[in-house]
Amino acid sequence: MKSEEILNEIAQQTAVCTRCKLHHSRKHAVPGHGNPHASIMFIGEGPGFHENEQGLPFVGAAGQFLDELLSAANLSREDVFITNVVKCRPPGNREPLIEELEACKPYLDRQIAAINPDIIVTLGRISMGYFINNGKISGIHGKSFWTNGRMIVPMYHPAAALHQPSIKDVVRKDFMKLPGLVKKAQETRQLNPDLSSQSDMQPKDDTPNNGTVEQLSLF
Ligand code: URA
Repeated sequence: MKSEEILNEIAQQTAVCTRCKLHHSRKHAVPGHGNPHASIMFIGEGPGFHENEQGLPFVGAAGQFLDELLSAANLSREDVFITNVVKCRPPGNREPLIEELEACKPYLDRQIAAINPDIIVTLGRISMGYFINNGKISGIHGKSFWTNGRMIVPMYHPAAALHQPSIKDVVRKDFMKLPGLVKKAQETRQLNPDLSSQSDMQPKDDTPNNGTVEQLSLF
């Protein structure tokens, strides 16, 4: 199956999904949007009010700042793929519960396998925890890690920057590293075919927080 077809199938499945309680208040599922062959995949926390209304990720205030950050990195939404760890809005924008993360995990894992990005950028603490154990965002934002054959770059959530203006410049600087990091990730994957072939494997861990992480010393 082509990645476009897999992503469409996931979109159809999430629209009628009842795997967790979030479906009760769902207006639209937000499976994700962007390039099915993207080199960079951004993973946020979960849809908010506007995303639930429109079925698209990051269309509210945080999304406007995300657009600004993408353009600072010479990227557009059509170059990348943007999604969330949960595809339905947690009521009142609360954090997703562990059972909600687990229920939605197969969708995200399948999206990652289908798109096979060189880099995954996690936006915020919840999405970072999906790949990196015991990471502290203030210490590791903008740094690169490898897990399951691809580079993970944790970043602050754009909404955090809206609440704490001092973070705005930090996030902007982290985004501006992305073109260089993509190049490094692509070179590393080409030189280490074992890493790239792992990318088609389903992650081995079963819980969102169990990723094995190895920081590449050359970065
Ligand atoms: N915040 C997120 O984490 N995701 C969205 O799609 C919107 C806001």
